[in-house]
Amino acid sequence: MYAFLAAIFLICSAISVPAQQPAPAKTAEPNVPTAAPSATASQTPAPTVSEPKTTVSSVHVDGPYIALTFDDGPNEKLTPRLLDLLAQHHIHATFFVVGENAARYPEILQRAVREGHEIGNHSWSHPNLAKMSDDAVRSQIKRTEDAIVKATGIRPTLLRPPYGSITAHQKRWLHDEFGYEIVLWDVDPLDWKNPGPSVVTNRVLKETRPGSIVLSHDIHAQTIESEPETLRELEAKGFKFVTVSELLKMQTAPTPKPVNAAVRPAASPSG
Ligand SMILES: [Zn+2]
Repeated sequence: MYAFLAAIFLICSAISVPAQQPAPAKTAEPNVPTAAPSATASQTPAPTVSEPKTTVSSVHVDGPYIALTFDDGPNEKLTPRLLDLLAQHHIHATFFVVGENAARYPEILQRAVREGHEIGNHSWSHPNLAKMSDDAVRSQIKRTEDAIVKATGIRPTLLRPPYGSITAHQKRWLHDEFGYEIVLWDVDPLDWKNPGPSVVTNRVLKETRPGSIVLSHDIHAQTIESEPETLRELEAKGFKFVTVSELLKMQTAPTPKPVNAAVRPAASPSG
């Protein structure tokens, strides 16, 4: 209940802040206030946010489905370790890759696709897109798209802007020109701050609910170390794992429900 009220508060806060957020930290995804709560398809009854329909932070689904996302890789050593673990659990995730790394390690992308994971575009060199010209943004996105296609033969349909930072104008033309859906997140364990694996796990467990999109980074050792426990606990709670595109296809219209029903994983074993 408290979590739900907190979420409502965050949403209300998000509505009142200007659309353009101040430039976030340089090295990794900060908790950008507009990112999580402004989803067009969040768990809560849809607030009247003037967000383009091309942006998603979480999805309203009928069932305990969530999408794990891993950003900034691939990393030569850590991403294969993560792929091993995901394979053991038969979990499919979504990797938002940086073009520079995708071009350097195409074989890791190939393996990820072969094992059922989805690849999304996370720009070429991880700049703050909101501060760049349209031409510079176009180059960042196109080069990365080309590297992903070259490695895997599959054109990405999902874009996650670094730091979650992107303007409404950019969202529109990136969607119109490339067909990208802009994918943010509603669960952010701040793993890039290296708070320790157990803290990462606990934050994910606390915030994840049906339809969640979980942000993590497969370039930090602590994140990879946190995953065995995170996956075990999420499974124990009854969550099922799908890629972001699969989650988007499951989207159902939010129906008014009692708040308690909206925040629990469905179909946990009785007992
Ligand atoms: Zn990133």
